[in-house]
Amino acid sequence: MAEIIDGKRISQQIKDELKEKAAALKAKGKTGALAVIQVGADPASCVYVRNKKNACAYIGIESLAYELPEETTEEKLLELIAELNGRQEVKGILVQLPLPQHICEDKIIQAISPDKDVDGFHPQSVGAMTIGAPGFLPCTPAGIIQLLKRSGVEIAGKHCVIIGRSNIVGKPMALLMLRENATVTVAHSKTRNLAKLCRQADILIVAIGKPQFIGAEYIKEGAVVIDVGIHRNENNKLCGDVKFEEAKQAASAITPVPGGVGPMTIAMLMSNCVQSIEEG
Ligand code: NAP
Repeated sequence: MAEIIDGKRISQQIKDELKEKAAALKAKGKTGALAVIQVGADPASCVYVRNKKNACAYIGIESLAYELPEETTEEKLLELIAELNGRQEVKGILVQLPLPQHICEDKIIQAISPDKDVDGFHPQSVGAMTIGAPGFLPCTPAGIIQLLKRSGVEIAGKHCVIIGRSNIVGKPMALLMLRENATVTVAHSKTRNLAKLCRQADILIVAIGKPQFIGAEYIKEGAVVIDVGIHRNENNKLCGDVKFEEAKQAASAITPVPGGVGPMTIAMLMSNCVQSIEEG
């Protein structure tokens, strides 16, 4: 039976460390705010934005909330970002995704100054990560690295299979695992014989975006399984991309949903904010 990797406990540990660090920076006169911009009122986005503001309050970082109506134009949003880029006390700018269809997400991401890009989505941040230069790391993959390290999972030399190649999870995850000296395979919708490939993984990271898709037949006995997926099932309960009950029989360690990767994403956002205050 697998050990359950407790993302709630590990994220709390990280937030407590950050709270201390933020207080020490404040004592040296180093403070700053995170600007959180939301366009429209998508219910899931409202929950994420509220959690981010609460995390700022816990750590002792000011958060500035910009709740803009759904019909906000791309031009207006770009103007706001330009204003925030120029404000000295603003150390991080976060635009909650997804944006309404009439706004180009790439254009918005590229408008954020890279030194305030605490989500780590700007092409400059992505480039820096690729060559191992300093910069903000994307929060979900960086959180997974912390989950593994703080659970005592050795990464170097292990075969890591990542299912998914999105810009926010799969691709950066592959780069960060490579940086940790794993041997990395990235699977996607055109991959042949996915189950056979996954059964070769010592560490299986699942970001396929399909509820409870991955069962025991994808898991090598003793593998570590990280479930990135977040969905609501027919009973409105949260579930992941992995069939947790059967997967935990085969795995040596596994993340639950909720309480696995999810809380780590916010902890790493806070880590990027504290880093920005420190560097600013
Ligand atoms: P996404 O953009 O939908 O990407 C899904 C990936 O899975 C794509 O690369 C796709 O391949 C691949 N895929 C789809 N069907 C497949 C199949 N049958 N076999 C193999 N690969 C397949 O999703 P995402 O944004 O990366 O997110 C993945 C999941 O993580 C979602 O459930 C999302 O809600 C969740 N998530 C959680 C957090 C968190 O904080 N916990 C953060 C971000 C995302 P192609 O590229 O070929 O289409």
